[in-house]
Amino acid sequence: MGTAAAAATRLLLHHHAAAGSERHRAQQLRYSAGPFPLSLRSRSSGRDAAAGALLPDRVTPFSYGTDDDADDHPREECGLVGVVGDPDAASLCYLGLQKLQHRGEEGAGIVAVGGDGKLKSVTGLGLVADVFGDPARLASLPGPAAIGHVRYSTAGAAASLRNVQPFLAGYRFGQVAVAHNGNLVNYQALRSKLEARGSIFNTSSDTEVILHLIATSLSRPLLARVCDACERLEGAYSLLFLTADKMFAVRDPHGFRPLVMGRRRNGAVVFASETCALDLIDATYEREVQPGEVVVVDRRDMSVASACLVPHRPRRACVFEHIYFALPNSVVFSHAVHERRTAFGRALAEESPAPTADVVIPVPDSGFYAALGFARASGLEFQQGLIRWHYSGRSFIQPTQAIRDLAVKLKLAPVRGVIRGKSVVVVDDSLVRGTTSSKIVRLLRNAGAREVHMRIASPPVVGSCLYGIDTPSEGELISNRMDLEGVRREIGCDSLAFLSLDKLHGIYGNEAGDYCDACFSKNYPVLPTVPEPVVELEEV
Ligand code: SF4
Repeated sequence: MGTAAAAATRLLLHHHAAAGSERHRAQQLRYSAGPFPLSLRSRSSGRDAAAGALLPDRVTPFSYGTDDDADDHPREECGLVGVVGDPDAASLCYLGLQKLQHRGEEGAGIVAVGGDGKLKSVTGLGLVADVFGDPARLASLPGPAAIGHVRYSTAGAAASLRNVQPFLAGYRFGQVAVAHNGNLVNYQALRSKLEARGSIFNTSSDTEVILHLIATSLSRPLLARVCDACERLEGAYSLLFLTADKMFAVRDPHGFRPLVMGRRRNGAVVFASETCALDLIDATYEREVQPGEVVVVDRRDMSVASACLVPHRPRRACVFEHIYFALPNSVVFSHAVHERRTAFGRALAEESPAPTADVVIPVPDSGFYAALGFARASGLEFQQGLIRWHYSGRSFIQPTQAIRDLAVKLKLAPVRGVIRGKSVVVVDDSLVRGTTSSKIVRLLRNAGAREVHMRIASPPVVGSCLYGIDTPSEGELISNRMDLEGVRREIGCDSLAFLSLDKLHGIYGNEAGDYCDACFSKNYPVLPTVPEPVVELEEV
């Protein structure tokens, strides 16, 4: 299907000028029924056809570049905030980004549109509070609309200011800024094609191809260009675009990464990766941006319109958002995160109880609600037996095991009175490399625990993520290297159990198929596209 035909099948769903109107809230998405563009259909198939074994050799999952032995988790991806229709848009973005700091700690930035219609950008490496520590930086971003981004690198070199988003670019119809959460699996293929046609890239980030696709699209108006560009992307993308007069919020057709929409009392529209950012800036949650949806807000009359991308895909929201990434006070994919985690813990207790245990303790902070669920379901006492210390920064490489164990105590300290002489169930949200778990077991034994039973409120992680989460390579994943008994021995606990994938699916019921669980099942919903060889033209 050509671009014009694709655009014609796209339904412009609603368009109105009344900020906060009931009509807006009542609008339901309806999707066009047009066939998929052939080129897209051939690249992406359903979950059954996709398998880890099919991963092309040339595609390397993202590296796990950390020496932080006290934090054995996949890294969060990125966080997005957008505000349109508020005179303090940039300041509200700043606060929202602070709340989303857990989604990216390497860089932060805000692009705002001023009264003159010009877009201005402030970006920097480090935490949000550091980047905007000088009040003059926020003061330089006045205006009614802004988008912000916190970054943990998944594609593109980590500590490079060039890769910090939002990206701001000029093209023949004006300026456009973009902020991206996710990872494009056809980035290399798209970049190769664009470079072969003369595009010059400034960064090593996959997000930059999106700007090139918008600039080179032949469609008009900008909504059509945005749709045209996004329809060529494969993989995970939640996006915010800002121009002189509009903000666009886009979610990929699988809906891997979250993106929600809310509204402030003054009618300002807010987009964010998680609802905790809306709560902080007094915005009321309205709804998710639906998978495959493009929401457009025109700041001149605050009208809101919605369109949908032509490729229709089965929904595959990232289940790890519920397991670990999102804050427990957020609503993600229409579920309260703390309730999901409590349910995981409850199910784990039903499946793998610890009948000889005296007390249940969480691995703080992310194991808290799962441990609570486990304790409630098993009728055991729930206690805070480990205290996380938040101020120690990253670990350096420690010379000996003894020093490494002492360094772990900087971040996690046992409460001896809770643990001494007890049979302890320690509940964590996930087990990735196993490095932290073995230290926790030693810590608990040294604090006097009689028995240590480890319970993990998710299935064994056996696959790397291709969709914007930084996971270790498969060779580093402990559950890929050894069986359950081997993992138990390595960790040194008295018993070990994971939540099974079947039980996890059972918690989601009819919705189970709407979630990506590839890091547990290796059922990859969409596989990377290997770049086609480029035929070089000889320079004359
Ligand atoms: S592979 Fe795992 S971390 Fe990645 S999107 Fe799927 S569920 Fe989430």
